[in-house]
Amino acid sequence: MLPAPRFTAFNPPRRILMGPGPSDVYPEVLAAQSRPTVGHLDPLFVGMMDELKSLIQYAFQTKNEMTMAVSAPGSAGMETCFVNLVEPGEKVIVCRNGVFGERMRQNVERMGAIAVLVDNEWGTPVDPAAVEAALKANPDAKFLAFVHAETSTGALSDAKTLCALAKTYGCLSIVDAVTSLGGVELRVDEWGIDAIYSGSQKCLSCVPGLSPVSFSPAAVEKLKNRKTPVQSWFLDQSLVMAYWTSAGGKRSYHHTAPVNALYALHESLRILAAEGLENAWQRHHEMHLVLRAGLEKLGLNFVVDEDSRLPQLNAVYIPAGVDDAAVRTRLLKDYNLEIGAGLGALAGKAWRIGLMGFGARRENVALCLKALEEVLN
Ligand SMILES: *Cc1c(COP(=O)(O)O)cnc(C)c1O
Repeated sequence: MLPAPRFTAFNPPRRILMGPGPSDVYPEVLAAQSRPTVGHLDPLFVGMMDELKSLIQYAFQTKNEMTMAVSAPGSAGMETCFVNLVEPGEKVIVCRNGVFGERMRQNVERMGAIAVLVDNEWGTPVDPAAVEAALKANPDAKFLAFVHAETSTGALSDAKTLCALAKTYGCLSIVDAVTSLGGVELRVDEWGIDAIYSGSQKCLSCVPGLSPVSFSPAAVEKLKNRKTPVQSWFLDQSLVMAYWTSAGGKRSYHHTAPVNALYALHESLRILAAEGLENAWQRHHEMHLVLRAGLEKLGLNFVVDEDSRLPQLNAVYIPAGVDDAAVRTRLLKDYNLEIGAGLGALAGKAWRIGLMGFGARRENVALCLKALEEVLN
């Protein structure tokens, strides 16, 4: 027998999360998650699932029938889009201007498909002219994939223009909206986005672990006409949707839905809908302006130019001679405040300050500026 480990219950402190995610969770969301677990086919739960689907459709601004939440974090949403739509040997134009575009390339190549890369400098948005050149040079490409809000750098790309280009050249668009959903303007139907995924733990301020996903009718058609079966059983949308659609009032079992996590997502999206999407976008913008003024006063410089800066993810260069890790450790220890380290090419060079969802509020901005000022002095 192994001796039984004896620990006390894990009781984390209340941190203020101002990094790249997870973000501060709404207290109502934490409360929702602790409600009694019911069966995932319980009629009451099924009623909540119907509401949840329409809340996700609202957040994405889409009427797409194939709209649901993958039972896993944003990375699984990414994989869901690629694994369902892309078949071996097909060509995908992949835009890479940070960490997450590079992950898209890895997804495409693992699927046995061909990634044609459009590289843009870290900290800059995807360049539509470079994308158009790639689309012209690759008339056999089937997809255009890009990250709307690059969390690794804080750059916002012009999703509307990029999706219009995809359409012009006969490609389906695959869009990463993990950090953009709820924080900046995003209109799936109006912009003609074909496949989109997000995450629960960024601007939705829900607990981590779920990924809202939506496929346009054209994407559904592509999925239906596959010549090869979807390589992942768990992420196969045609199987999963038997649970997410009440065809004739009946849902069938695919995998046990993460019941309590779905309560949490329902609550966070209910809060977003009550605030109103456009109000939420505006709030993120206003809080970003307050934070920006304070950061500039501290002499910190932004990584991204003003016209493509994300309000919800503020990447600033670490001043010369300042110890990156020491500052973040002090913020955490003395102020219970988490900000993000640099990722990839910006590791050790930048901090990433998140203003996401419930975290995009005045008291957080004030605390962050005061703490940074004290620690930097
Ligand atoms: C966070 C993030 C992901 C991955 O989401 P996880 O929930 O960490 O799996 C993907 N893309 C972008 C742009 C992100 O910010």
